[in-house]
Amino acid sequence: MADVSPTPAAAASAEPLPAPRARPWAGAAAASVRWIPEAARRPVALTALAAAVLLFPVIDRNGGDVDAAANAGSFAILALGLNIVVGFAGLLDLGYAAFFAIGAYSYGIFASGQVHPLWNAAWQPFQWLGLVSRFHVDGVPDVVQMHVSFWLMLPGAALIAALFGILFGAPTLRLRGDYLAIVTLGFGEIVPIVVRNTPSLTNGAMGLNGVISPQIFGYRFGVNATPFYYVGVAMIAVLLFVSYRLKDSRIGRAWMAIRADEIAAGAMGVNRTRLKLLAFAVGAAFAGATGTYYVAKLQTATPEMFMFPVSVMVLVMIVLGGTGNPAGVVVGALLLQLLQSWFLEDLTQWVHALGRLVNSPGLQQVDLVQSIELIFGVILVLMMLFRRQGLLPATRTVAALSLAEQAAHPTRGGIGASLSAVRREEAASGTPMLETRGLVKRFGGITAIKDVDVRIDPHEIVGLIGPNGSGKTTFFNVVTGLDRPDGGTVRFMGEDITGLPSHAVVERGIARTFQTLRLFNDMTVLENVLVGMHARLHTGAVGAVLRTPLTRREEREARERAMEILAVFGNRLVPRVNHLASSLSYANRRRLEIARALAARPRLLLLDEPTAGMNPAETLELADQVRSLREMGLTVLMIEHKLNVVNDITDRVFVLDYGEKIAEGLARDVQANPEVIRAYLGRTAAAGI
Ligand code: ADP
Ligand code: MG
Repeated sequence: MADVSPTPAAAASAEPLPAPRARPWAGAAAASVRWIPEAARRPVALTALAAAVLLFPVIDRNGGDVDAAANAGSFAILALGLNIVVGFAGLLDLGYAAFFAIGAYSYGIFASGQVHPLWNAAWQPFQWLGLVSRFHVDGVPDVVQMHVSFWLMLPGAALIAALFGILFGAPTLRLRGDYLAIVTLGFGEIVPIVVRNTPSLTNGAMGLNGVISPQIFGYRFGVNATPFYYVGVAMIAVLLFVSYRLKDSRIGRAWMAIRADEIAAGAMGVNRTRLKLLAFAVGAAFAGATGTYYVAKLQTATPEMFMFPVSVMVLVMIVLGGTGNPAGVVVGALLLQLLQSWFLEDLTQWVHALGRLVNSPGLQQVDLVQSIELIFGVILVLMMLFRRQGLLPATRTVAALSLAEQAAHPTRGGIGASLSAVRREEAASGTPMLETRGLVKRFGGITAIKDVDVRIDPHEIVGLIGPNGSGKTTFFNVVTGLDRPDGGTVRFMGEDITGLPSHAVVERGIARTFQTLRLFNDMTVLENVLVGMHARLHTGAVGAVLRTPLTRREEREARERAMEILAVFGNRLVPRVNHLASSLSYANRRRLEIARALAARPRLLLLDEPTAGMNPAETLELADQVRSLREMGLTVLMIEHKLNVVNDITDRVFVLDYGEKIAEGLARDVQANPEVIRAYLGRTAAAGI
């Protein structure tokens, strides 16, 4: 997207950076990097890294180091998996080790002599496939010997763990935040207990024995760590790739939207239950594959290997590396693991030596290896205090705008171009766009809306006015599926949509903005708009990973459409496409909310106080833009307090007071209505203003 990111040519033509002062080593390093052309730096760095990783066992011929690196690799994969659940989707899972255990025991059971059912004909096909064999001992009935291949069980265990993820997630993922953390904590405790108490399957606390080690082209890995090291590296590479592909896709954006604001994500068309389950299942699948790898390497499995501290350790790795950044969490995992296995021993020796030197018996007894959990705790506290985003943060900072880019050009006259995002209405003539009958919503003792009948026809701009607390926002919430009505019906283009979940309402063509801004603050302007398109795009998890020509095209068109929508607001949002939504001014956030709603290709647009916080010039500009949208075929219902806007652009208004519709008609007539005057003035007088 050349029009979005600063072009390399522009960056190259910029003045070279002044040489750093008084730091000769940094100057030398920078000078050597400058030898490599800008565009080639990344590939060069990646190639160097790949070469170092691949050559490591050849150069460092110490088997212990390679073994430690191979073990560290399995934690890097776990961290990648948990990163999808916690980092992408924001679901705090404290029992992640359970899926690690499920994957481990899946392989352990299918590739050891632990379970040996009696042989019967049903096993014959599996024997042909080479998964089991018939074991014969004279005098007793034949039994089945299982030896399912490691290579088959890698995806197999991933699948089994993913199934458990779905089974476990389906009833619990409706919970949020702390509640979900507690429930996952429980699950993490239950799985090792079940493992310990089903000795017939798992050999209980004694642990599985004789797990078969993998074999490739006739070569059996045995206890040699080097082949495991390479398998681990390959798994990390594949799963990093999968993580990045998912992250930069419709699926990844939906996860991040859920993480940022679940309600708003639903209102933008994201099916929250399904996407949370997907995150859980993908995370569990990563852990399942890791379990297989880990058990194949150790050739045993005990319940102690999968207890709560493992879940916590993986969480610390993510926080250390940078929640949400796949490369970061791999670095975090490797750092912590290698710290533990390579350096703590040496460090302990040094502390002891220091103790002898200063003659301190306390120091001589320190054992840092045993204090690893304490060290994790300290790291966690330090990260939270000083670098919450982790060593490698997930969000990049972008350059500030130039003064010319910052200057707004107020415009009148609405939107110049026509928008492909706006759909012309297609329902049979005479069918209202929106119709509510006897709509009721109560909150405890308060009846927020009471028997509201509203009819909105295609291509109208209807205003919804009323004093504060009269139920306007609640009316929007009930229509868009955020709140369930306690009575009455909502019909949209003839279809009954009462009580549908919010994502289903968006799919049918109603999009909205929020009075209290609900942008996805840690996503960019462009990403916010792309989330708005969620309901109109089709890429699933598989398509996102494979990035087929079809998904590429869909993504390209989505980005083009997003830019087209952002251009509605002149130069207000376009120069800021790569900026975080949280960095926008208040008025620009309002505009972005409208852009995001337009991205859903609505037929009916609900605007909740869109001009709040805008100055008079900006208000007029927005009013013109709303009018243009109507001319393009959209129907608009807007809550608005500014009378000039209401008079200017609405065809009709209706008035709510204490949840009841008290008037309806042309804006001018309604304002003269004594009921309405009493509603406004009565409240104002009562408030003592
Ligand atoms: P308006 O948008 O017209 O200012 P609202 O629809 O926000 O008014 O609120 C209408 C009434 O419903 C208010 O009395 C408010 O306190 C109440 N209300 C709105 N949402 C809730 C809620 N989630 N729980 C309890 N009361 C609510
Ligand atoms: Mg309101």
